[in-house]
Amino acid sequence: MNVSDTSDDRRGAIDDGDGTGRTRDVVIVGGGVAGLSAGIFTARAGLDTLIVDDADRGSILRRNAHLENFPGFPAGVNTRLFLDMTEDQAERAGCSFFDGVVTEVERAENSGFDLALEGGGGLEAERVIAASWADSGYLDGLDIEVDQRGSKGFVLESDNDGPQAGHTGVEGLYATGRLADQYHQAIVTAGHGARVGLTLVHDADVYLYHDWVAPAGYFTDRGREVPPGIEEIDEAERRERERESMQAMREYFAEPHPDEPTPHPSLADEE
Ligand SMILES: Cc1cc2nc3c(=O)[nH]c(=O)nc-3n(C[C@H](O)[C@H](O)[C@H](O)COP(=O)(O)OP(=O)(O)OC[C@H]3O[C@@H](n4cnc5c(N)ncnc54)[C@H](O)[C@@H]3O)c2cc1C
Repeated sequence: MNVSDTSDDRRGAIDDGDGTGRTRDVVIVGGGVAGLSAGIFTARAGLDTLIVDDADRGSILRRNAHLENFPGFPAGVNTRLFLDMTEDQAERAGCSFFDGVVTEVERAENSGFDLALEGGGGLEAERVIAASWADSGYLDGLDIEVDQRGSKGFVLESDNDGPQAGHTGVEGLYATGRLADQYHQAIVTAGHGARVGLTLVHDADVYLYHDWVAPAGYFTDRGREVPPGIEEIDEAERRERERESMQAMREYFAEPHPDEPTPHPSLADEE
């Protein structure tokens, strides 16, 4: 996506997503803050990652007026722009997108999961990350614990890798973000998405030291191999990436975002 495109263009791009029949390494249900963040880490680790998002619903963060507590934006940021930028980042990392509603997830015969989509059709995945605040209904057929509070169901994590790692107790199924009972704050759900994405990467036996970009020589000048997951870049490449990032940011912030905050769907609906 071009940085000057609007979120409507992005949704158009997601509509063109390739819901082909192949089994993905990872399907992430929900392309909000936590799902996008998880996808950035799984895709950068080389896992074939598809993010399925219900574009009509969209991230609850689209309802916000101005985001003022996400580190890195000292004067705050328009959340529609923030989400467009984060979707771009997930796409650059290698994620593909599909606009749809997941209605059911069940264990596949041999390994992995079958996902049913509203309106017919389905997807296959070795692993699934549920990042779909506030919908956990499509997980009803699986043996997970859901804490129902009013109209909202929170997927409880199991403790097999310490708390907050995203495991649900069903092998290969993870939960993240507000759905996993994280604080209702974007930075927290983004961080949790990253944590759960990395948990999945390690479970999938992809050996990563860290997902870092380091200056040339940081490891090699000390006689060390560049560890898996780390990239060393030279001065010219560093300058080039900096120039590209400056240009991109100028374009993102050149004009006010065209989208208004999404209104609350119902005054009676509790948060
Ligand atoms: C009015 C308002 C203002 C806010 N302001 C702030 C703020 O200033 N600072 C702050 O830190 N936080 C703020 N928040 C909270 C913040 O928006 C959330 O904590 C954060 O968005 C949660 O991230 P998430 O990824 O868990 O859920 P979301 O960002 O809501 O993402 C969930 C995604 O899942 C998708 N989805 C759901 N079900 C399905 C399904 N079955 N199939 C496919 N896709 C599905 C949805 O379309 C959505 O895109 C605000 C929230 C509101 C309502």
